[in-house]
Amino acid sequence: MADIQAGRLSGPELAENFADVHRPLSGAEALAEANRCYFCYDAPCINACPTGIDIPGFIRAIATGNVGGAAMTILQENIFGGSCARVCPTEILCQGACVRNDPPLAIGLLQRHATDHLEPGAPHPFSRAPDTGRKVAVVGAGPAGLSCAHGLARQGHEVVVFEARDKPGGLNEFGIAAYKLPDNFAQHEVGFILAIGGVELRHGQQVKLGQLRRDFDAVFIGVGQGGVRGLDLPGMDLAGVHNAVDYIAALRQTDLAGLPVGAKVVVIGGGNTAIDIAVQSKRLGAEDVTIAYRRGPKQMGATRHEQDFAQINGVRIKHWLQPVRLESEGGEVRAAVFASAQTAVETIIPCDMVFKAVGQTYAPVADDGLELADGRIAIDRDGRTSLSDVWAGGDCVAGEDLTVQAAQDGKLAARAIDAYLQENRGS
Ligand SMILES: Cc1cc2nc3c(=O)[nH]c(=O)nc-3n(C[C@H](O)[C@H](O)[C@H](O)COP(=O)(O)OP(=O)(O)OC[C@H]3O[C@@H](n4cnc5c(N)ncnc54)[C@H](O)[C@@H]3O)c2cc1C
Ligand code: SF4
Repeated sequence: MADIQAGRLSGPELAENFADVHRPLSGAEALAEANRCYFCYDAPCINACPTGIDIPGFIRAIATGNVGGAAMTILQENIFGGSCARVCPTEILCQGACVRNDPPLAIGLLQRHATDHLEPGAPHPFSRAPDTGRKVAVVGAGPAGLSCAHGLARQGHEVVVFEARDKPGGLNEFGIAAYKLPDNFAQHEVGFILAIGGVELRHGQQVKLGQLRRDFDAVFIGVGQGGVRGLDLPGMDLAGVHNAVDYIAALRQTDLAGLPVGAKVVVIGGGNTAIDIAVQSKRLGAEDVTIAYRRGPKQMGATRHEQDFAQINGVRIKHWLQPVRLESEGGEVRAAVFASAQTAVETIIPCDMVFKAVGQTYAPVADDGLELADGRIAIDRDGRTSLSDVWAGGDCVAGEDLTVQAAQDGKLAARAIDAYLQENRGS
């Protein structure tokens, strides 16, 4: 019998395991941390932030007691400043570039301190320009799409966001590890962003690009990567074998106590998603979790920090293991078999659950006819696609697959679309 069970841990244990992974700073801690900043001229932390937030500027505002001003400095450049404060790999971005190394400034926690300062339900901090009468369609309500929608709404354009799922937020809602964005944070942030006004959200609609181009003055595509890369192994159709992204999406939407998890879990892959599914399996109560990656630690898509985090959580990471086949008993997975890249000896890892986490792919929007580059939408420096009235950004174009990069892409595209609409006034 398979040992896949729901409720391996009690409700309070699950609540503890999936609670906020970072404790927020108190007011006194934030003040002390802000006062460690050198307020560098030509600050390297700003250059390392994909959205170019004036980091010393907002830290100085915290240091002088102006926490609301700090929040505005952040949100001016990145309307997803709240979630980025929680999910950004700061160790390779702003904090990684900080000139202090004793240790670097806790920029992520300071950003969170500032953005958390905005009261829920308070008036939206930005106002809209007068209505321009121009209409823009945004496809996808993830960080890229909503960042673009917010930027366009600020300029006075009317925006309709078409979202395939029944909830907005993209991977902030369906993908990021639950302990990074607990307490329904993604939906609260979407509510805050949409409070600018002028943005209509339409769910569950199959859109065709040709039709959108006829109905709107411009289009932004921010559909992420809806496809899953294939892994053609004997046994991939066995019971107990899952796509990591599908399981994480279910985990983010379900009562954790009812979510079945194996006793012995194997994760095939080496990126963010592999780390997240492995750690979350462990925190759901799996006894033994192994990430098997076909190359070495340096080639893993997951950062060193994430690899350490997985190991602190009791996850074993094995390198140089090329998956060969899955073995079964009664139609259920029982072992994952690997060829060792170094010794040519087979490694057999007993398991009752296997997650495939080998990456996602761009799934084209119907009827798009867009040029691609390396399997994603080809764009120019302004985010414009091969069609002159269509822009794209986020995970569906080349670049870092990070929330902060998606927010930046959406912001820049909104500026470019606004300039295009002004140039083509009356057309
Ligand atoms: C498991 C996992 C963990 C991650 N963890 C982190 C992390 O800790 N930190 C970090 O910075 N980044 C992380 N990322 C990456 C980050 O989530 C993405 O880079 C970011 O969400 C990309 O934003 P996006 O708007 O381009 O796409 P998405 O967030 O994927 O949003 C795209 C939206 O478009 C919708 N859509 C798709 N096709 C259509 C269609 N045809 N019509 C209408 N709507 C459509 C989708 O339903 C979705 O809502 C993680 C990714 C994964 C998979
Ligand atoms: S690099 Fe570090 S010390 Fe310098 S401004 Fe940025 S956060 Fe402050």
